[in-house]
Amino acid sequence: MKDTKYIFVTGGVTSSLGKGIIAASLGKLLQARGFRVTNQKLDPYINVDPGTLNPYEHGECYVTVDGHEADLDLGHYERFLGVETHKANNVTTGRIYQNVINKERRGDYLGKTVQIIPHITDEIKRNIKMLGNKGDFDFVITEIGGTVGDIESLPYIESVRQLRWELGKNCLIVHLTYVPYLAAAKELKTKPTQHSVKALQEQGVQADILVLRTEHNISAEIRKKVALFCNVEQSAVMQSIDVPSIYRVPLNMQEERLDEVVLTKMGYDLEKTPAADMKSWTAFVHNLEDAKEEVRIAIVGKYVQLPDAYKSIIESLIHASAYNNRKLKLELILSDKLSEENVEKKLQKIDGIVVAPGFGQRGMDGKFAALKYARENNIPCLGICMGMQTMSVEFARNVLGYAEANSTEIDPDTIYNVVDIMEEQKNILDLGGSMRLGAYKCKLKKGSRVYDIYGKENISERHRHRYEFNNAFKDEFEKNGMICSGMNVESNLVEIIELQGHKWYVGVQFHPEYSSTVVNPHPLFISFVKAAIEK
Ligand code: GLN
Repeated sequence: MKDTKYIFVTGGVTSSLGKGIIAASLGKLLQARGFRVTNQKLDPYINVDPGTLNPYEHGECYVTVDGHEADLDLGHYERFLGVETHKANNVTTGRIYQNVINKERRGDYLGKTVQIIPHITDEIKRNIKMLGNKGDFDFVITEIGGTVGDIESLPYIESVRQLRWELGKNCLIVHLTYVPYLAAAKELKTKPTQHSVKALQEQGVQADILVLRTEHNISAEIRKKVALFCNVEQSAVMQSIDVPSIYRVPLNMQEERLDEVVLTKMGYDLEKTPAADMKSWTAFVHNLEDAKEEVRIAIVGKYVQLPDAYKSIIESLIHASAYNNRKLKLELILSDKLSEENVEKKLQKIDGIVVAPGFGQRGMDGKFAALKYARENNIPCLGICMGMQTMSVEFARNVLGYAEANSTEIDPDTIYNVVDIMEEQKNILDLGGSMRLGAYKCKLKKGSRVYDIYGKENISERHRHRYEFNNAFKDEFEKNGMICSGMNVESNLVEIIELQGHKWYVGVQFHPEYSSTVVNPHPLFISFVKAAIEK
């Protein structure tokens, strides 16, 4: 068996350069050459995982099939590679320290003084190599969060330095920087890049490949200069120019020969390695870029000021729109500002409405207003998690006539708790855990819309929630046209509701957005967008 190769992606100059996209693009290109690849993210913050972070802090919390609450970059990795990630694919400083402190308390360090070097760095290296040790992957691509020079990222860079020595040719460092354009001087400036490569060198790490983020093409002359100043071969200085869609990036990086340079540097004979087959990817990008007619979709949610809070939903809608040959015109609508008085004005030009996930009370009334409007006006509507829960409450209030209906999460004193903590769910909550997290099986009702959409009876989808549909209301819902078309059979929990006689009105307790990928867009989103464009 060949050794696993480790590639590190670091970033300099500023944050938000898109390291995750470059790491995922490289992963895609290597995968398209037939290699087995996984991407990992190391996050230098002290939270043990991002589960408790407010979405405004760090964007969406992504959930892996094994129920890990993870950084949203794992979403990019899955969407690009179409391969599931797990808990081991995302590690934070908090988790590293927690592991080390647990070992210290157990006496594993045999009385030694526990220090950043070697104990923290050893734990970091163990978490990186864990992905490669099983022999499942030819390449492990590890993205180091943060910017070189930050105090927080020092132990990670030091671990990379050590691994470079231990792994030799099986280790490679890709450094991403920014080349600003000074409009007044009409010049691209490489000084920040030089400084950030130096900062890396000061920590003992020499970059092998430099990817320069830029808004303008970088000439051969500038590349030569950067190569000279930064101790990097000229062929290994490449640009990543701004593009309208992140899905262009792998194709651009292929043109820059990122995969070829990586493989050559890691000792592969390019003659014996097939070129990356990006046919289905390219077809998707063409659909995306060539679509002329628009589909107008609104996401109604409480975190819309930061679109990253709905990253996976937005990407799923992009996939599904391209699949339907439509250009996505997205409107993010703050649910706090929506009411029965203004809902028609705000939503009348919209073809389809997604009512977003969320926690807590804020913005609920706006979600009810949007749902009532969609339900009464036959507008395709997809409710996700809290969106499905609000769908249930709105239906109970306005169709079944329970004016006081609510979710226990919003009103703990309600007696008409259409959404509640269910006795049944205790079977599946992990010991001590208070949320249903990760993938659970769901059985679809034959003859239902969702059965038709998925084209099968048994599915599995990812969850992240505490509350459930209250089974006491199930019969009454079904008698009045809202059928429970997806069930968790083991624990008798409602996973999907759908309104009969409506153009498209479906609520799902799970998060389909976590599993939509470029090559396999999620069927629910495809069907929802299709309904939205049907006249
Ligand atoms: N607040 C809801 C719950 O905990 C839904 C959470 C969500 O939308 N992810 O059940």
